[in-house]
Amino acid sequence: MNLPIKYRPIRFDQIVGQSVAVEIAKASLTQVELQTTYLLVGSSGAGKTTLARIMARSLNCTNRQGIEPCNQCDSCQTHLEDNHLAITEINGADKTGVDDVRDIIEKCQLHTISSKYRVLIVDECHQMSKPAQNAMLKLLEEPPTDTVFILCTTEEDRLLETIRSRARILRFDTVNRDLVAGYLLNVAHHEQIPLTETEAYLIYDYNKGSIRQCLQTLGTVSERVTVEDLCPQIPEAKLQSILLSFEARDYLAIERILQELIRQRFYPKHILSKLIDYTIDLMSKPDTNKKFLINADEILQVLIPATNKLGNSSNNVAECRLTLYHCVVVWQPINQTTDELDESSQSQPEIQPDYQLANGYSPQPDYYPIPAQSLNYQQSQTPQFQPQIKAEYQVPTQYNQQ
Ligand SMILES: [Zn+2]
Repeated sequence: MNLPIKYRPIRFDQIVGQSVAVEIAKASLTQVELQTTYLLVGSSGAGKTTLARIMARSLNCTNRQGIEPCNQCDSCQTHLEDNHLAITEINGADKTGVDDVRDIIEKCQLHTISSKYRVLIVDECHQMSKPAQNAMLKLLEEPPTDTVFILCTTEEDRLLETIRSRARILRFDTVNRDLVAGYLLNVAHHEQIPLTETEAYLIYDYNKGSIRQCLQTLGTVSERVTVEDLCPQIPEAKLQSILLSFEARDYLAIERILQELIRQRFYPKHILSKLIDYTIDLMSKPDTNKKFLINADEILQVLIPATNKLGNSSNNVAECRLTLYHCVVVWQPINQTTDELDESSQSQPEIQPDYQLANGYSPQPDYYPIPAQSLNYQQSQTPQFQPQIKAEYQVPTQYNQQ
């Protein structure tokens, strides 16, 4: 069941959770002197193209009700059937060259007999090459009469500043969790799909708030395929173990956890993004150890760009593994220097460590590529030393006794 298509909003008031962008769009479409360039900025699946299409329909509707398109007149109907001659939708990823932009310019010169406005919607416009963007800029600077450009992007920074400055920018928010969960429950009720509140939140979290992807997931739920199957959750203990392996410089443990998660059909990108979420979550807790915060910051600088580069495929295990190894490299063992040792040994730990690595994993010291620095530290360690770190980050005692 293709719920994203079925429930795609066709009026401004049907768009969920983007009131600011929608209000700006509505207000600017009623101005006497019409803005000719719009830039819609937001994450994938936020509804940018949907809003762009409603704007285009509203501009050309012959029976507009206030600002809403009627969705009944010839113009609205032909657009809803994807046959509108004056409303063109292109994907910036396919039109990356200057010649492509020339084609676009030629199209824009054609007179639109039956429609009031020619509307050009460019999806993923940041994917156009710089020369193509420059050619586009010339078009935006001197737009043909009655032509409106609606550019959509997930990566605003990759657009020429001169393009951004010419456009009315509409920013899309991450839609509120409760709002989307409620919306999903409503759609599920309509479609007679059994869905609990907990499952609705699970779908939201798994899809990071993208309504389109949430609906896609919901449409796949059946008697045989449950929400839990579609939105598997990585147990926190696993993420915790990965962080512990960074502290222990334990490449073998990382490999084991990674292989286990891959066997459970978690995609590398999903694993890394969950690790990012978990780390950020720990950072936000008021009693988190300061040294952990520094390390967390370091590994996030590795994890975030690497995760953004990874595709949603199961073929990226090697990249994922390298990223985790890179985290080990940047991680400064929390109990590393003598100064810090002295400082820490002055006070007792707030929480007694009781952590065990998950799944009966037992460390085998022979395999650890422990750097010399860390070995020196092990020798100079005082017996009564207990690092002042939270239980979750405490390295198993075996490591301290090597
Ligand atoms: Zn209409």
